[in-house]
Amino acid sequence: MTQCILSIDQGTTSSRAILFDTKGAALFTAQLEFTQHFPADGWVEHDAEEIWRTTLSATRDTLAFAAANNHAVAAIGITNQRETTVVWDRATGRPICNAIVWQDRRTAEFCQTLAKQAGVEKDLAAKTGLLLDPYFSATKVHWILENVAGARERAERGELAFGTIDSFLIWRLTGGRAHVTDATNASRTMLFNIHSQRWDGDILKLLAIPESLLPRVLDCAADFGVTAQSVLGAQIPISGVAGDQQAALIGQACFESGMMKSTYGTGCFMILNTGASALASKNKLLTTVAYRLGGEVTYALEGSIFIAGSGAQWLRDGLGVIDNAAQTEELASSLDSNHGVYIVPAFTGLGAPYWDAGARGAVFGITRDTGPAHLARAMLEAVCYQTHDLLDANRRDGVKPTTLRVDGGMVKNNWLCAHLADILAIPVERPRIIETTALGAAFLAGLQAGIYQSPADLAQIWQSDRVFQPCMDEVQRDILLIDWRKAVEKCLTGA
Ligand code: ADP
Repeated sequence: MTQCILSIDQGTTSSRAILFDTKGAALFTAQLEFTQHFPADGWVEHDAEEIWRTTLSATRDTLAFAAANNHAVAAIGITNQRETTVVWDRATGRPICNAIVWQDRRTAEFCQTLAKQAGVEKDLAAKTGLLLDPYFSATKVHWILENVAGARERAERGELAFGTIDSFLIWRLTGGRAHVTDATNASRTMLFNIHSQRWDGDILKLLAIPESLLPRVLDCAADFGVTAQSVLGAQIPISGVAGDQQAALIGQACFESGMMKSTYGTGCFMILNTGASALASKNKLLTTVAYRLGGEVTYALEGSIFIAGSGAQWLRDGLGVIDNAAQTEELASSLDSNHGVYIVPAFTGLGAPYWDAGARGAVFGITRDTGPAHLARAMLEAVCYQTHDLLDANRRDGVKPTTLRVDGGMVKNNWLCAHLADILAIPVERPRIIETTALGAAFLAGLQAGIYQSPADLAQIWQSDRVFQPCMDEVQRDILLIDWRKAVEKCLTGA
């Protein structure tokens, strides 16, 4: 029997289970997509039962593979889409309504009302490290209590439970025996004081959320519970949990202050490890818990870009100028420069450090000979420039990132990685294992299970596939960045 770790990666569009060996190699993957519900303009919901069914099915398939191949599953790790909010009945385990997804904007007006109350926005930012925004769980829980018939009364009687997806899955996996979460998921609710590491009584009062709804907050490597025999046919400890972006940071072994990872999928999420200090950003980055191990908190600064890989999808599906995303590499390399063409892909506003919801996209500098190659290159360059703007915000907040570790579907693109290194003027490292999110959860579970002794062990497992060194001269870089900046300014609305 060889020892393995099963990682559950519950994402926004699919639920996956991956079996890792102790060296971090993925042996088996099962994945199931589930339905996205858009019941009204700006609303995005998931059926938590469907999330459970798909997760359970993927997990069972993976366990079956393990059993058939003589692998012993020592522990389960869970990573999940963050902020998405589930409220369920403690007696039946049934959600009282659909889960409200992180992308859902239905509480925008309520956020604006809160922002008008003197000191609220500042206080929330100081305690939670977050911006007052519908994105986070707090106002979603409030919405459910206000709008689902009988929810408030039942919550006050202690009959209901709230959790992010990790919590809900653990409840189900343990047969309703554990109502827990980890510090990274808690830090995205806007109800959790990231300094004291406790649910914040004042915020709960402000939002009229009874404390009895909330899960117990544990370290990322901890005893979250044991799977019920009746659910998985085996009793396996759940011993690692982290939200998806934090799990990717761990999977990238960014355990030192100054180490940073950026995930390039549909959008892009960048997280910078800032060590034991929770830096308050002056540049609209979020302060968040990177991980909590042995009761010690490591903090991070986080920024996101809304459009990364989806820019390539737009070239393919919206404009029809490419057949597939990978083609952007060949097209971008076919040109000796960008020929002055810039795309600001502000399709749904701009994220950090601009946070301009009203901004809309634009293409600049087109001439008669502009073609698919120019557009493809400009779209890839835009990802690099936006990453630069995030990195610059980090620098202005007083942290010096040393290297950038990249992952996500887009980083197969060598041209993108090379240009990224040039524009950022720091080395860009691509790991051998790109499944960093699921790997991070497996790492955490393995730590608690005693397979790994410390983060230093994990750092040894991480392997580089390729390091892209910056080789562009400073003058050229500055010219490109000045032109990019001009293009962005033309798109900003201040909204
Ligand atoms: P997500 O997890 O957000 O669904 P993935 O990490 O699977 O995304 O990455 C898929 C995204 O990466 C797609 O938006 C796709 O357009 C983009 N992509 C995939 N391969 C390439 C490539 N070689 N060059 C540029 N973009 C790519």
